[in-house]
Amino acid sequence: MRACTVCALKENHPGITIGDDGVCSLCTLDFAGELMENFAYTSRVFEEFTRSGPNPHGDHDCLFMYSGGKDSTYMLDKFAGEYGKRVLSYTFDVPFESAHAAENIKLARERIPATFVVDSDDDNIKAMMREVFNRIPAKPGKYLDEKLPCVSCRSFFVIRAILYAFRHRIPYIVLCADPQQILTMESDVREVVRGFYRTFGRELTGELFGGVLEELLFADEEQLPRIVFPFIAMRYAYDPDRIVAELKAKGLYTSSPLETHCTLFPLLNYYSFANWDCMFYKLNAASHRRSVRRDENHSRSTFSITFPRAADLPLIEERLKKVVLDIAGNRGDPAAQERELIGLFQRLDATEDAARFVAQGFLAMRKTAADLGITLRSTGAET
Ligand SMILES: [Zn+2]
Repeated sequence: MRACTVCALKENHPGITIGDDGVCSLCTLDFAGELMENFAYTSRVFEEFTRSGPNPHGDHDCLFMYSGGKDSTYMLDKFAGEYGKRVLSYTFDVPFESAHAAENIKLARERIPATFVVDSDDDNIKAMMREVFNRIPAKPGKYLDEKLPCVSCRSFFVIRAILYAFRHRIPYIVLCADPQQILTMESDVREVVRGFYRTFGRELTGELFGGVLEELLFADEEQLPRIVFPFIAMRYAYDPDRIVAELKAKGLYTSSPLETHCTLFPLLNYYSFANWDCMFYKLNAASHRRSVRRDENHSRSTFSITFPRAADLPLIEERLKKVVLDIAGNRGDPAAQERELIGLFQRLDATEDAARFVAQGFLAMRKTAADLGITLRSTGAET
């Protein structure tokens, strides 16, 4: 198995090719052009949004997608306070979300001057997840396919938010993703909807959204909300540690970034190992290696999870793969697996408490899967 000599992505990674020089397509420039195009579009929409006056059609200038995570808490505080926008804070209650994020949402409701709404649709989002996990993906796969459950969940609730904004005539949707996610995210609402149809087909998409998505596909351009990514404007200044420190000082944040993870995090790793022979955060780890190689003095990460520079990621990945697939197949000794997982997460910079918390989620993976109707396979991807 060949691996990129710069970022260590393997040649079977979905959407990646490795050239004769041993360098992958992400590390060479041909991929960067596409990302920059998306980036130019999102920058333009953000500028337009900051200059726009009050929404003449209603009480809110923007629908702010509020998850309770550190990035969106930080920006919600800025938008409702300093930037003077009339903000409708929209939270989609993802049934897989940990209790820690719920606590942050409660703090925000007490301290940030916005209108808060909570939306949910447990049955349909679970039906979608069941479909994603239980089907065997087509090979060789496209870029981000190893993250399909995560990408699909996000698309699902972004579409719910688009429908809400469309019906209430709110012209902008603010979405806080870290700079890495933004560059790979669809920013045109019609494209978000089309992408969902492509992944799930007309029939299932119709069932999941009650047939109303076609309204969006056939609406006039000016009736459709536009998506704004505020972190674009501060992409070179993005500093997760400073954001957390500022939020804690204002009483708006109570947990460490690792603890606000989705409760499906263990299953997301199972999915990427079982189908794509890599850990869930492989692209983030590869991006980190790339930036370290480009700038030896580069010390600040540009995404939420930090990877210690000295960590031997390929080895950690192999060991994590073994534990995850053993748990999926109901093999091995849980006490030994817990020790192994805690050790691995600590090597990825987690504190002992956070590592233990995440390890316990991994040990409960079979139950989490059974509750959702997901059938686990216990062998890795064919290579
Ligand atoms: Zn590479």
